[in-house]
Amino acid sequence: MEDMETAHEECVIEPIHASVNVSQLLTEPVGSTRRYEFDELADPEDRGRVQGKVDLIRSNRSVLVHAALSAALKLECARCLKPAKCPITFEINEEFFPTIDATSGLPVKVPEPGGFTIDHNHILDLGEAVRQYALLSVPMKPLCRPDCAGLCPACGKDLNKGRCNCPPETDPRWAALQALKKKLTRPKRRTAVKKKTSERK
Ligand SMILES: [Zn+2]
Ligand SMILES: [Zn+2]
Repeated sequence: MEDMETAHEECVIEPIHASVNVSQLLTEPVGSTRRYEFDELADPEDRGRVQGKVDLIRSNRSVLVHAALSAALKLECARCLKPAKCPITFEINEEFFPTIDATSGLPVKVPEPGGFTIDHNHILDLGEAVRQYALLSVPMKPLCRPDCAGLCPACGKDLNKGRCNCPPETDPRWAALQALKKKLTRPKRRTAVKKKTSERK
């Protein structure tokens, strides 16, 4: 359970700057569309690229975004900590609300506070949406290969390169059973106690 947490921590994708000016689209009739090729680094540390198609559709109150994206992320194997390539694909379906009317230049009240917005310069920035959706499809436990043997918990040796000299780990449940077995196979003391009690009588 613990390494699941840390594995997920490793997968943080920074927002990218995938922004597009939609001032033209906002002045067009409802149903107008634009298609873009999306190609951006997943984060500043170059852990992979996010690529795919992005469709923008003008609605009566917003710009609808539909994106089908994929990325090959360079993550860390949850078992052996070596680099692991993780291909992911994800879709984005979101509504981006204008904050300024493209025709009049007057502020617009956003109908759904907290939703994605188009800024004062009519820039629609997909970065945060891509980050959020990508995180949902990042594997909790990235693996360098499905049968990765991982590291020995005692000495840290990479078990993909062969066995180490550590004694086999004993399962705590098995240890409890062994203790119980020891107790049961000590009949001498028991008979001694019995004798004492019978003597008292
Ligand atoms: Zn591994
Ligand atoms: Zn070991």
